[in-house]
Amino acid sequence: MNRAESERLAALLENHGFISASRAEDASLVLINSCVVRQSAENRVVNQLMRLRHLKKSRPEIKIALTGCFVSSNLAEMHRKYPFVDYIFPAGSEPTFEDMADVSRYSLPKQAAISSGITIIQGCDNFCSYCIVPYRRGREKSRPVAAIEEEACNLVEGGARELILLGQNVDSYGHDLAEKPDLAMLLERINKIEGLERIRFLTNHPKDMSPGLVRAIARLEKVCKQLNLPVQSGDGEILKKMNRGYTLEHYRELLGQLRREVSGIAITTDIIVGFPGETPEQFGNTLQFLEEARFDAVHVAMYSPRPETLAFRKYADDVDPAEKARRRKLIEEVQGKIAGEINCRLVGQTFEVLVEGRKKGKWYGRSQSDKLVFFEHPDDQSGRLVPVKIEHSSPWFLRGSLIK
Ligand code: SAH
Ligand code: SF4
Repeated sequence: MNRAESERLAALLENHGFISASRAEDASLVLINSCVVRQSAENRVVNQLMRLRHLKKSRPEIKIALTGCFVSSNLAEMHRKYPFVDYIFPAGSEPTFEDMADVSRYSLPKQAAISSGITIIQGCDNFCSYCIVPYRRGREKSRPVAAIEEEACNLVEGGARELILLGQNVDSYGHDLAEKPDLAMLLERINKIEGLERIRFLTNHPKDMSPGLVRAIARLEKVCKQLNLPVQSGDGEILKKMNRGYTLEHYRELLGQLRREVSGIAITTDIIVGFPGETPEQFGNTLQFLEEARFDAVHVAMYSPRPETLAFRKYADDVDPAEKARRRKLIEEVQGKIAGEINCRLVGQTFEVLVEGRKKGKWYGRSQSDKLVFFEHPDDQSGRLVPVKIEHSSPWFLRGSLIK
């Protein structure tokens, strides 16, 4: 979501006549789109700001702008703490360029990324006990269907072939709009856009995914058979303390339904290890759940206490950092084994790959099921949808050859 927002801000700047510089040292304006979901991310933002403060001493004409979740609701306090930052605006809001009129600029046409994100719903109403997002992004606000459709068409005209519909909880899309559209209906509309090849969306919330959405995924040909469905923990008690709003039993049923109705669907998840009070047994339940659920990929994070959240106020951060790291490593090992087995079976199969670019002499892109695929070819393949026969697998990527 942050990357998509950064692209949107970059496009906005380009529309106002800016061109991008490759280094902060060469720029007349530096805009930081910040993330503070974990303390480590917040530390990186502070480091960047300190670097820019230093840069501004030697180049006082440089303008610094700051947005994203680092920006708290108390703007006056932010300006007091970071006096060298020229413009500060809250996450999800747009800068007013009239304020930035004194920054030099040039004109350049805008090209969309091959895989482009579109925010469909901002904010979050859920208040999972560990999460800072609702405090920094506010309540859920859906964008009207027509505005999303228009942006989608513009992106496709600008060269996008895959669109990723974004929100902290895309399953609650539309509940706050007068006509009460939902995600399934939105997918149906986006599916009709000519020239668009693929649609993805994230993130889904296990408590809110509807049977209608599951049917839409199965039915609509451009919608990728792939989902990120964060479970966060494989222990019922911890899920309760996380205030996730579903039981493990509910999650299991949903997983079964998805796999029955959408054949070959790839499912990934998010896990937090070391939530306050997580015992070795409770962590063991998460490991066991991974064995049972057999996800295609798992994003694992060590619990990080965030100011304002319920978990921060109510529970001590009592799992030792070394123990958190050990649990994270165990998850990665178990998941590496599972993903290795899943991917091994893909050798010999042929996938359509949407080529995104080149890395270390190889073209790379993603299959419909979101597997990262590398292949070699002498000609430029970027932006193309090509059939690749898989010859080698690993837990994290596949390698193959383009077939005629
Ligand atoms: N709305 C999505 C994603 C939220 S943030 C959801 O409901 O899943 C992305 C991921 O960051 C989360 O899935 C969670 O695993 C992780 N995360 C959020 N807050 C965290 C915290 N305080 N400590 C560690 N990980 C956290
Ligand atoms: Fe955070 Fe929970 Fe909202 Fe996701 S659903 S953004 S984890 S509060």
